[in-house]
Amino acid sequence: MKFNIQNIARKNILALQPYSSARDEYTGEASVFLDANENPFNAPYNRYPDPRQLALKDQIGRLKGISVENIFLGNGSDEPIDLLFRAFCEPGIDNVVSIAPTYGMYRVAACINNITFREVLLNEDFTLDASRVLSAVDANTKMIFLCSPNNPTGNAMDQKQILRIIGNFNGLVILDEAYIDFCPEKSLLADLKAYPNLVILQTFSKAWGLAGIRLGMAFASKDIIDLLSKIKYPYNINLLTQDKALEMLQSSDAKEKWVETILIQKTLLIKELHNLQNVVKIYPSDANFVLVKTTAAKKIYDALVERQIIVRDRSKVELCGEALRITVGTAEENRMLIDAMKEIG
Ligand code: PMP
Repeated sequence: MKFNIQNIARKNILALQPYSSARDEYTGEASVFLDANENPFNAPYNRYPDPRQLALKDQIGRLKGISVENIFLGNGSDEPIDLLFRAFCEPGIDNVVSIAPTYGMYRVAACINNITFREVLLNEDFTLDASRVLSAVDANTKMIFLCSPNNPTGNAMDQKQILRIIGNFNGLVILDEAYIDFCPEKSLLADLKAYPNLVILQTFSKAWGLAGIRLGMAFASKDIIDLLSKIKYPYNINLLTQDKALEMLQSSDAKEKWVETILIQKTLLIKELHNLQNVVKIYPSDANFVLVKTTAAKKIYDALVERQIIVRDRSKVELCGEALRITVGTAEENRMLIDAMKEIG
C-alpha cells in the first residue's frame, strides 16, 4: 500500500469545515478594514495578523528553497507536534512509535491526545536501528517520531537508517531537525518531494536565537500542510513574532556567525571538559549542547545550582545514567561552568 493521506488522516478532520476568519475571506488590495471588529486606533497592533503568514513564509521559502505551500508555521515546533496528533491519530485507538531517549514533547503530546506512545530504545551508542523501529509498527501506527540531531543525546542519526524508515512505513515520519544548523550532515529538506510521508520540523528557537518569539516550522507535502492549517488557531502566529522573524531573516548572516561561534566554543568546551576529574565521558555532539557522563550527576547538578549555573540533569533518562546535558554558552559562561566543575571536583 502506498502512502495516501486519505487513509491515515482522521475522518472528522478530513470532513471538517474550518473556521473562516475575516482576513481569510477577501483577496486583493484594500485600505478600509471594517470587517473584523478591530479598534481603528493603535496601528499596527490594532489589526489581526496575517492568518496565512504569507510574507514570512515567502522569505523562509526563499532561504530554504521550499515552496510556500509546503510550509506550516506554529507557536514553536510544539504546535505542529500537537496538531499532527490531532489531525492523524484517533484517540484511544491509534499509536505512534518513537525512539528513546528523545525530546519529551512527543510523548506529552501523545498522552494529551490519548494516543499510545511506543518507545524503541536507541543502541547503547545512541545510534538508530531502523529494523527495530519498523518492527514496533502495527496497523494502528500513524506516525513515527525521529529527531536528528537528537535531544538529549546530541548525535545525528545515520541518514540511511532514517530513509529506510521513511521508505518502509505507510504512515507519517516526523523528522525533528531543531538542531540541524549546528550539524555537519545536511537537512533532508531537499528530499522532501521524494517522500510524501515525511514531515520535517525546524525552529527559530536554536540557531536563530529567537526562542522567545515562539516560531516553529513544519515542512511537508501540500496535502499535509493544508490539513494542519485547517485545524490551527486562525491567528496562531502573532504580529510581533511575524515582524521580528522577518527582520531576522533579512540578516541571516548574523545567524551564520552565531552558529560558527557556538561551534568554536563547543570544541573548546569539550576540550576543557575532558580534563575534569568528574567527567567520565563526553558523547559525540552534532548540536549546540553536549551530553556528559559524570561521576555523580545529581551532586554536580546541585552544586552548580548553588553557584547559579543551571544545566540539565538527564541522569534519570534511558541510557543516560549520570549524564548532564550542557548547552554551549558564551566563552565567559563556559569558563564559569568549567571553573565551577573544577571546584566541585
Ligand atoms: N525539538 C527539539 C528536538 C527540541 O529540543 C526542542 C526544544 N528543546 C524543540 C523541538 C522545541 O522547539 P520550539 O521552541 O520550536 O517549540
